[in-house]
Amino acid sequence: MEIPPSPSPLISVIVPVKDEEDAILPFVARVSAILDMLREADGSAAAWEIIFIDDGSSDATLAAILSANAADPRIQGLSLSRNFGKEAALSAGLDNARGRTVIPIDVDLQDPPEVIGEMLDRWREGHEVVYGVRRNRMTDSLPKRLTADLYYRAHNWLSMDKIPEHAGDFRLLDRKVVEVIKRMPERNRFMKGLFAWSGFRQTAVEYDRAEREVGTTKFNYWKLWTLAIDGITSASTVPLRVWSYLGGLIALFALFYAVFLMVRTLLFGVDVAGYPSMMVAILFLGGVQLLSLGILGEYVGRILVETKHRPIYIVRQRIGCEEGH
Ligand code: UDP
Ligand code: MG
Repeated sequence: MEIPPSPSPLISVIVPVKDEEDAILPFVARVSAILDMLREADGSAAAWEIIFIDDGSSDATLAAILSANAADPRIQGLSLSRNFGKEAALSAGLDNARGRTVIPIDVDLQDPPEVIGEMLDRWREGHEVVYGVRRNRMTDSLPKRLTADLYYRAHNWLSMDKIPEHAGDFRLLDRKVVEVIKRMPERNRFMKGLFAWSGFRQTAVEYDRAEREVGTTKFNYWKLWTLAIDGITSASTVPLRVWSYLGGLIALFALFYAVFLMVRTLLFGVDVAGYPSMMVAILFLGGVQLLSLGILGEYVGRILVETKHRPIYIVRQRIGCEEGH
């Protein structure tokens, strides 16, 4: 007897969560209502699923997911063995989603799930990636806005794979794109960079970002800085190359300077002064060398991480979410 393949849902919503016990139930209530509405509007009785990825929470997040699953089996979860970080959690979600479209979204409802309807419309028009762009970032603090701005500039200046400015992880991905991302072998998973690299027909929908309703942000400036370095070093080798050019320039300058000194000494004799200029040259060059060494180290460190071929995440427990699709 042939078992008919289980119909794949139209939409998989994947939600990384870290210590979000109070956010799960409000999220489920609001998002499942929207998905049900979309499903009725669609008429094809297309199913949906929500997959939470519990990224090593230390509070009652897992219990909240379990009770949501007991109430509605379309709500599922994966519990990771520890905190692997949001990018790894998103990878786990992509690997286990079955939908023809996959939508990563944060649990804090800062990105309005109502936009999903519009994203689906764009998808039906033939777009394979529909990313949400924040119309304004007024809900972010000024320093966060400025640093975000600076980051997008720097990334897109240094890298060939341009990431759209002010697009978060909230987006709709066609199955084709998901399969491509799943096949990317790297451990360093800066998702926005991977999406940008993959190409496909992309389009944007705009929305206003709300305040976080419950819980607190999991990203402090140090984490964001680390994420920024991950993003740039995984997308660009310009920071490695720039030192050769700078070194060349300085060497050239030093050559001219040497000729100048020689000529001057020949014409006017020796003069002992010059201690300050010497210190400046030594300190400046020392600084530049340490900086370039540090950047070299960043990349070497990343090579080490990649060559270990460790898994990106480890699943400890599955909640209504079968293995291996
Ligand atoms: N998150 C996660 N693992 C982490 C940190 C955060 O899965 O190590 C989740 C978090 O629970 C939330 C999403 O990533 O669903 C976005 O986090 P947050 O809202 O704190 O980030 P922000 O909106 O402040 O950038
Ligand atoms: Mg948030």
